[in-house]
Amino acid sequence: MAYHYRMHHRTVFALSALLAIAASCKSGESDSRPAGASTAQLDSIAEPYVKLVLAVGKHDADYVDAYYGPPEWRTAADSDTVALPEIASRAAALSARLDSLTAPSDTLLGLRHSYLKTQLRALATRVSMLQGKKLTFDEESQALYDAVAPTHPESYFQNIIDSLGVMLPGAGTVSERFERYRTQFVIPAAKLDTVFRTAIAECKARTLKHIPLPEGEEFKLEFVTDKSWSGYNWYQGNYKSLIQVNTDLPIYIDRAVDLACHEGYPGHHVYNLLLEKNLVKDRGWKEYTVYPLFSPQSLIAEGSANYGIEMAFPGDERVEYERRALWPLAGLDSTQAERYYRIQALFGRLSYAGNEAARRYLNGEIDAAAAATWLTTYGLSSPARAQQRIRFVDQYRSYVINYNLGKDIVRTYVERAPAESRWQAFTAILTSPRLPGDLK
Ligand SMILES: [Zn+2]
Repeated sequence: MAYHYRMHHRTVFALSALLAIAASCKSGESDSRPAGASTAQLDSIAEPYVKLVLAVGKHDADYVDAYYGPPEWRTAADSDTVALPEIASRAAALSARLDSLTAPSDTLLGLRHSYLKTQLRALATRVSMLQGKKLTFDEESQALYDAVAPTHPESYFQNIIDSLGVMLPGAGTVSERFERYRTQFVIPAAKLDTVFRTAIAECKARTLKHIPLPEGEEFKLEFVTDKSWSGYNWYQGNYKSLIQVNTDLPIYIDRAVDLACHEGYPGHHVYNLLLEKNLVKDRGWKEYTVYPLFSPQSLIAEGSANYGIEMAFPGDERVEYERRALWPLAGLDSTQAERYYRIQALFGRLSYAGNEAARRYLNGEIDAAAAATWLTTYGLSSPARAQQRIRFVDQYRSYVINYNLGKDIVRTYVERAPAESRWQAFTAILTSPRLPGDLK
């Protein structure tokens, strides 16, 4: 299969080169322009790029999110720590090599060329941060994720909170009322496993209607504690994932479909396996055997995983499915489902409050305690959830923008396509080297 694909590309290349020559002969000019970077040239940059990502991983335990390339590259990286200044100079040399290559005219190769450039720029930024360089929140997100989140004043969130207050009458602040209301919709611990497995099966069935998945793909589901995140997909290569769900805090019923789609189908598990199938196995592009967490690829990963929930459950389908299948399984009162999701939709519009709290906190304008209070006041997080969020920001910093801004960027890209070809547009994101800049 890999061989076939590469042959096909060379044929197309040769043909377009001939056409270019024919066109220039017609106009009486000779054509000496290069056809752009070749697959071989990009391959020769992909290998040192992967090794550099592994080298950064020695200094930053969160950096390498997944690796399934040649095991000897990892062994070599593990046995030899490359100093940060040396990593920085190797990254600069690789970037210079990439810059010296003309962008390929082939769409996919062109995306590959700019992918390597952008990912390397993010790597250099992360290395400079590990060396002590201080960036503002927006500078950091631009350099690491190729995007800057919009800012919203308190009044923006207050308007949404006022609407929620009308829907949730009673004593106390809206934050307290919201928290009290939600206690009725916690999945009982004894039902967690079966509710999650059912939701995952449903998300998978809905994804399979639009995206063929390779044989042998599967994941393991584990429940864990003491983490700063609520769920995590660890991609292990060969179409296998380990999905972990954090049970530190109460898990509300909406998390079942959210996490099943986000971590599994058509989210992270599918994104990773499609990249492995289409780019690594079929084309031999080694750069995709490693996934550096603090890089623009994460905006695509988180954005497509979050938007994937709506792809799998468009319109009212989610409430309809949950009321019929999931709520009874969790022992919850299905007649409340429709109202619950109306309230959830409003609550979801507060998600950018997390970016504001993180921006102010990381820019040094407020301390951790004030950031937690801000999250409770304007993001309606419970105090315990706000503490978890701050712990997340301490660990992952401006990564927070990947969830909501990423979702909005993916949504805009997909919804530009006519309704009947939205799955095609969505799949194009999951199977190509597209980065945030390529979706704008
Ligand atoms: Zn995620």
